[in-house]
Amino acid sequence: MKRYFIFLAAVALFTAVIWGLIFVKTQGVLLEVIFFDVGQGDSILIKTPYEQTMLVDGGPDNRVLNKLGDHLPPLQKRIDIVILTHPHADHVTGLVEVLKRYDVGVVIMSAAYLKTDIYGEFLKTLRDKNTSIIFAKAGQALHFGPKMDVDILWPERNKLDLFGGYNESFGMAGNDVNDDSVVTKMSFGDFALLMTGDATSAVEKQLLAYGNGLRADILKVGHHGSKYSSSLEFLKLVQPQASIIEVGARNRYGHPAPATLDRLKNFSPQGADQLLKSETFGVERPQAENISIFRTDKDSDIKVLSNGYTTSIFKEK
Ligand SMILES: [Zn+2]
Repeated sequence: MKRYFIFLAAVALFTAVIWGLIFVKTQGVLLEVIFFDVGQGDSILIKTPYEQTMLVDGGPDNRVLNKLGDHLPPLQKRIDIVILTHPHADHVTGLVEVLKRYDVGVVIMSAAYLKTDIYGEFLKTLRDKNTSIIFAKAGQALHFGPKMDVDILWPERNKLDLFGGYNESFGMAGNDVNDDSVVTKMSFGDFALLMTGDATSAVEKQLLAYGNGLRADILKVGHHGSKYSSSLEFLKLVQPQASIIEVGARNRYGHPAPATLDRLKNFSPQGADQLLKSETFGVERPQAENISIFRTDKDSDIKVLSNGYTTSIFKEK
């Protein structure tokens, strides 16, 4: 069955009034995913068609609070699920205040540990609030309703004693906690969204084992578009129609990397095949099919709406 994609760049559509009308009409039917523009960091709000709310990461500061205020009903103080992909400050910082101000059902997190003040504060807040925790592990799945699931594809291990042990070397790639990022694939009907946190191509290589199970319409690009993520082999299996990069303008890491943008922009499955097979022969790059690129530094908030068949992406700017 062919899936349809509509990319809309109309700023006018991103107004509260219009969205208010759309909500009244479609509540209970649409999956809504909003990639918040929180500068250099990740924060993604998911409103399921079954009226659950999930937040993936909290960004580098408290901007997420305003975003949640804008996108949740005024009296809603409940967030059913929070996922912390990994303990770096650009993902965890905003979650501290979120935990304090919202009634969070459960936190699903990587067992990777990092000895930083902000991550310590996050752990302390979890304890103070007595929030339920699940350590993410490949094979776990969240069932939201008849047509919607979230599968956890990574990390492979979750056995670390977080509160007792101190081990920054939990990551499969030496001491890089990026590679313990929680990787999720969200499915709603025919629609799929893959989010890889800050995982690098080392993890992507492991994920290749999922084969066609990686296929997704939209890819939340790994590690803010770093050149060490979004490898060609990985893109070839995911084959997204659109990619979303959460990144801050003029960040000091040079994200997103031109090489990554190039891999996305000029992607085609056939081309990837040829390039992967013939890297050393310098075969000319074939005609590209392109993966559309959306990025929070240029587009601000990016909203995905899907009814499980037709999917639309809206940019705020
Ligand atoms: Zn990051």
